[in-house]
Amino acid sequence: MTDGSTGQPSTAQPSTARHRAAPAAAAGAGTLLQLLRDGVPRTRSELSALTGLARSTVTGRVDALLAAGFIAPSGETASTGGRPPATFAFNPAAKIVLGADLGATHARLAVTDLAGTVLTAVNADLEIALGPKAVLDWVVEHGRKLLDEVDRPVADLLGIGIGLPGPVEHSTGRAVNPPIMPGWDGFDVPSYVRERIPVPVLVDNDVNIMALGEHFTAWPEYEHLLFIKAATGIGCGIIVGGQVYRGAQGAAGDMGHIRVAGADDAHCRCGNTGCLEAVASGAAIATALTGEGIPAGGSLDVVELARSGSVPALQRVRQAGRDIGEVLAGAVNFFNPSIIVIGGSLALAGDHLIAGVREVIYQRSLPLATRHLRIAAARTGESSGAIGAGVMVIEHALDPARLNAGTAV
Ligand SMILES: [Zn+2]
Repeated sequence: MTDGSTGQPSTAQPSTARHRAAPAAAAGAGTLLQLLRDGVPRTRSELSALTGLARSTVTGRVDALLAAGFIAPSGETASTGGRPPATFAFNPAAKIVLGADLGATHARLAVTDLAGTVLTAVNADLEIALGPKAVLDWVVEHGRKLLDEVDRPVADLLGIGIGLPGPVEHSTGRAVNPPIMPGWDGFDVPSYVRERIPVPVLVDNDVNIMALGEHFTAWPEYEHLLFIKAATGIGCGIIVGGQVYRGAQGAAGDMGHIRVAGADDAHCRCGNTGCLEAVASGAAIATALTGEGIPAGGSLDVVELARSGSVPALQRVRQAGRDIGEVLAGAVNFFNPSIIVIGGSLALAGDHLIAGVREVIYQRSLPLATRHLRIAAARTGESSGAIGAGVMVIEHALDPARLNAGTAV
């Protein structure tokens, strides 16, 4: 790989554009692989027709992909006579990836194949505040154990993806002024991990990898997706044209500190007043309920109260949905997403959160922007972050531009 010295993409953006073919002139092995990643077996003639490449060129590139293991022969097509042509399909078992979803107090680690299927996983209570070395040592130790469990050597590992619960500079893999991660500011996460397991290491924030995991496993047909994580805080992962959109400094989607009307007396941990997070986060609801004489320690307590039918908890969750909807209504007009996916622990409170979101968005957004807009609950569950961290690595390594340059196969 061109970035072998750092494990980071030179352009900083892993591609998720697996359904789109590059122009024929640029078509190399990577473009063929993107075509085959839908799992449909194709013959050399079909690949030639789809890419506009000469048969001899296709043959050479198919051979390279076969040698790398990314595709495998998948039998022969029916033929009207003579020797039937061989077909080839994507081989998700060729390599594996390791995805780590590191939260404030909890970690999940998963090994997946190249189709994002979880082969094995482990959960643990792990405080991110223990600092980078202790937490990453845990990732390395348990990552190796998971590889042993699935009986695959490090040589089969395409890379490691890591999600952190704070702002991350994706191009360097370093956390930037993370509020709840003492000791992590500026720490070189990729280098530290790569010294222990020598494969490419990519890092992003937890909301972006959850968005990627949800998009890849549950909503691949939607090109423009907003993923909302409503939990202790509130964040948004943005998928544009099938790829994570991070913005100029990686701060895109930080919707928790957008102002909500009528919340001026709510003080936010960022120092401002009236932030969405100060009124609609799990932490804010827990504080408000406790003030009403209903003790709640955090978003999981709020979920439990709502599920047990506590009317004040249900009302506050519904109102949180409306507040989130108010901020999203502007985003819908501005960004015109095809789907909004609501996830995070607060979404486990049932339909009340999403009902509040829907109520305001359909009322406040422009009809053209909402005509085909879908608003849905997250589907991938507790694995979305770990799967997404792995998907970040897969999309980076199998990026057509990278493969077409002849660097990976
Ligand atoms: Zn704020």
